[in-house]
Amino acid sequence: MKGSMMDSPLNLQAILERIPKIYPAVEIVSRLPNGSLHRYTYLDFYRRAKALAEALHRAGLQPGDRVGTLCWNHYAHLEAYFGVPAAGGVVHTLNLRLHAQELAYIVNHAQDRFLIVDDVLLPLFEQFRDKVNPERVFIVRHQNEMLPPGTEDYEDLLLTARGGYEFPCSQENDAAAMCFTSGTTGNSKGVLYSHRALVLHALAFSLPDSFCVSQHDVAMALAPMFHANAHGLPHVAIMLGCKLVLPGRQLDPQSILDLFSSEQVTIATAVPTVWAGILESLEKDPGRWNLAPAFRGFVGGTAVPEALVRKLDQHGLRLIQVWGMTETTPVAVCSTLKSHMREWSEDEQYRMRVRQGRALPFMEVRVVNDHGEAPWDGATLGELHVRGPWVASSYFNAPGTEDRWTADGWLRTGDIATIDAEGYVQIADRSKDLIKSGGEWISSVDLENALVGHPAVREAGVIAVPHPKWDERPVAVVVLRSGATATSEELRGFLSSRFAKWQLPDAFVFLDELPHTSTGKLSKLELRKRFANWQWEKAKLS
Ligand code: ADP
Repeated sequence: MKGSMMDSPLNLQAILERIPKIYPAVEIVSRLPNGSLHRYTYLDFYRRAKALAEALHRAGLQPGDRVGTLCWNHYAHLEAYFGVPAAGGVVHTLNLRLHAQELAYIVNHAQDRFLIVDDVLLPLFEQFRDKVNPERVFIVRHQNEMLPPGTEDYEDLLLTARGGYEFPCSQENDAAAMCFTSGTTGNSKGVLYSHRALVLHALAFSLPDSFCVSQHDVAMALAPMFHANAHGLPHVAIMLGCKLVLPGRQLDPQSILDLFSSEQVTIATAVPTVWAGILESLEKDPGRWNLAPAFRGFVGGTAVPEALVRKLDQHGLRLIQVWGMTETTPVAVCSTLKSHMREWSEDEQYRMRVRQGRALPFMEVRVVNDHGEAPWDGATLGELHVRGPWVASSYFNAPGTEDRWTADGWLRTGDIATIDAEGYVQIADRSKDLIKSGGEWISSVDLENALVGHPAVREAGVIAVPHPKWDERPVAVVVLRSGATATSEELRGFLSSRFAKWQLPDAFVFLDELPHTSTGKLSKLELRKRFANWQWEKAKLS
């Protein structure tokens, strides 16, 4: 028997249509490339997103056509986030930190029909322009410079809208957005997000036990809008009507803190390295910024060190860890505490907060190893599998990748994890990063997080290096804080209170900087390449 409810699709058009009626006057603030702030209201945003949808429709956009964006986080990118899907198209965010060659591959693979490009990113675009073939290219002009031949002004595109346009009603399983994985562990693959996935993700993200977002919040989309939906925050903010702050390309810690303070931001999402930079600025200049009370920072992308969580707490900035992937829209689990954990000691609470967390409603998790599904005992390791309404079920046009999914529909994440009796997932490593020493596994993540707890250490990476006797042994690569000193013996001693002797790195290498991926994560791939010719004999002598 069927229920007697209406069959209204969950789509982004429904989110947009709330704006003129319910929160037209709320502000959207964007930092422009010249550092000035652009401000307009939700109603302005609604009208322009609608004009974009109409203009694209007039330009011949067909349902499912891809529109690529090569943009920083700002109002025009937001208009594309909503205007393109509301016209029935698919907004395809391009990662501006990728190499021109890879961008050309991605634009061609996705068959982007139109492109929207920031004028400040034209030098990057020019590097691959002759290798791609979009029908039209629209430039968001922040500066008053001449447009390159063959491109058009984004504002002129909006002017072709005549009004009176009604959004088509997308079916909830229609594609709305697209993002390619950033290729940390292999070739980039495209993920298509449905309207339904984006809406359900936004709802689950906002729940009190997730991130407890309300219209009262001031949200800052600090994670790039070109990667994994900026952790979902733009959709959450627009659905709820929160004041939204978009930081543009000025992403140094001081500029971020200036915006936190001047706009009284209450929630923001970023990877741990960004939060670590923010902490360093707060420590250097305490009292300079006036953060909003009850500030929550969402942190994901790589494991968050406990020391970072503890220290930011002292500055009134509470981090909540999330785990997710491009393939999971991206948030699948989060580390908020359950009611009974509030009675626990401070140390026990931190121990839970640095776990990746429990599954959001409708998201299923399990850990699988050679013996089958692992018990939820917090100790048995295996590969993390996830399943749910905002988990991708395939990659776009990528034959041969079907084995990422099990026959019963679980995504094999490639992460090695445990799940404890409370249902909290803890990631030990990516499968490729685990260190196999004499038949035992060593977690590089645990060692890295412990190392950054040392006052002299700014960043640390631990990689496996082939070893004649033990298969592999850990080597730690460390960046010290400016002006600080520490020796290998000191760091080894520091770790030895928490790790067994066989787990300790055999060597420490000090560098000025570590390699990062296009999304700001430590690039283990690059580190491994750099140390591919490691010689233990030499290391012992140095
Ligand atoms: P890429 O795979 O190219 O880095 P993604 O952003 O999709 O791009 O990365 C997803 C991966 O990031 C996960 O599979 C996991 O390895 C890692 N990750 C994400 N969040 C966390 C977290 N909170 N703790 C540890 N690892 C994380």
